Amino acid sequence: MTNRLYYEDSYLTSFTSHVVRCEAVNETDSVVYLDESAFYPTSGGQPFDTGLINGLKVTDVFVDRDGDVAHRIEGFLEPGTKVDCLIDWARRFDHMQQHAGEHMLAGSVYRQFGGKTIGLHLGHSDSSIDVELPGGRTRLEPEELQSLEDDVNQRIQNDEKIRCWFPDAEELERLPLRKAPAVTEHVRVVQIGNDEFCACGGTHPSSAGQIGLVKIIDARPSKGKLRLTFLCGNRAYLHYRKCFDTVKQLSSVLSAEEDKLTAAAEELMQRFKDVQYLLNRAKARMAVDAVKTAAQKTVSPKGFCVVKYVFEEIGFEALKEAASEITRQPDAVALLASKEGQSTLLLFARSEGLSFDMNKLLKETVKITGGKGGGTGEFARGSSPDARALDLAESALLQDGGNQ
Ligand SMILES: [Zn+2]
Repeated sequence: MTNRLYYEDSYLTSFTSHVVRCEAVNETDSVVYLDESAFYPTSGGQPFDTGLINGLKVTDVFVDRDGDVAHRIEGFLEPGTKVDCLIDWARRFDHMQQHAGEHMLAGSVYRQFGGKTIGLHLGHSDSSIDVELPGGRTRLEPEELQSLEDDVNQRIQNDEKIRCWFPDAEELERLPLRKAPAVTEHVRVVQIGNDEFCACGGTHPSSAGQIGLVKIIDARPSKGKLRLTFLCGNRAYLHYRKCFDTVKQLSSVLSAEEDKLTAAAEELMQRFKDVQYLLNRAKARMAVDAVKTAAQKTVSPKGFCVVKYVFEEIGFEALKEAASEITRQPDAVALLASKEGQSTLLLFARSEGLSFDMNKLLKETVKITGGKGGGTGEFARGSSPDARALDLAESALLQDGGNQ
């Protein structure tokens, strides 16, 4: 069995070892086994370490079926070779920060709310835990989340000691573990401060201060549990810098102090809505004028009148306005369209006294031209690739002569 050096010293990044065996995976890669290794294999939610073995790149580290640490490398090594090993410290330390931060957060959610954490997902950009809360709760209030952050970050600032060791059976029995260990033998315990004890085989810094900062960035229900997504250490610092830069830029764009940004953005949105409203009104007036002056009007032998018109990017609200102007008159049918980029908006409407079914007419038309839509007997809207639908609808109306 591989002697795992990281159990004793998570700061060991350079060591010498011996190749026990080397198995080719393909023409370029192999899996190498060492008599002892400080490379962390993917386990317990913590991803593997990368680095070099005798200058050859380590691309994966995992625990094989026999419990040995297997290192996938780019190249091959002869059994018995003495090898110099180097671990990518930036990656390892990042994982140590996230993992220890997770223990602290899980400990805090346990102590404050009785939440039991199910596993850690340490991702490329953020990490998450799923928490089972008493009474089936799947949410925490904003102030409860803040209380978790306050507790964890206070402990970080207090630089609480972190200790990892293998207690004997008797000592293990006495330890107030946050949850039952997943293994029964060689249980390793990670202790943070005086009240956080958890069985764990991961790598951790020697004190909480090295985690730097823990920030919860998302909290939402997930599969009946609460999913907390968070950042620790350098990730939290980089996130803070990104947020700070964004706020600075926004502050300059909106000409507002940082603490007045939300109000400034709300005001801007309100103004935008007002302008949008006015613009829609203006477009509607244009539509009405256009319909009055230029629309093709066809008077059927039965005496009703069909007004057909195609607009350019006028929007649905303006179409509606134009349609109601037309159908305010007795015995009138409005067949209107507006070309909007790749699609054409359709609006069919009729005066109150007529009996045509606009919903049916629109559905039958778009069945031929492609598109979709629907509505009521009096009014229907939809979309189609082009305005051909208007001609089809018009001839259907004139043919049926109002017998629908
Ligand atoms: Zn752990």
